Amino acid sequence: MIECVFCRIAQHELDAQIVDEDPDFIAFHDAHPVAPVHLLLIPKRHVASLAEWTEVEPDLAGRWLLRARDLAARSGLAPSGYRLVINTGEWGGQTVAHLHLHLLAGRLLKWPPG
Ligand code: 5GP
Ligand code: ZN
Repeated sequence: MIECVFCRIAQHELDAQIVDEDPDFIAFHDAHPVAPVHLLLIPKRHVASLAEWTEVEPDLAGRWLLRARDLAARSGLAPSGYRLVINTGEWGGQTVAHLHLHLLAGRLLKWPPG
């Protein structure tokens, strides 16, 4: 029994609204969206946080970022704009200990965040 909720989603053991998937990454709708569009893009292999991502395959991080960019473009978000966020650690607001990238869009996003 896997304890990590995002590992369980990545292995299709837990339901999620999946919007994108390849052997390395999976994207799905956030269960508690804070914007009209709120997707999460995660590496399937378990990594607790960006800070703890020590054994990074050479091009995986780059492909992750570009996949988020392409997901935004395919979702029609590029003209109006979007935000990518990686909450890291307690003060960074990270609540799920599996590395994830938030894709937020669909309204004017304020800066700085709270
Ligand atoms: P964090 O605060 O760690 O950066 O973001 C974790 C995100 O995961 C939150 O926005 C939360 O709503 C979302 N989340 C937590 N559990 C689940 C779940 O079981 N399914 C989905 N789809 N999203 C989840
Ligand atoms: Zn995990």
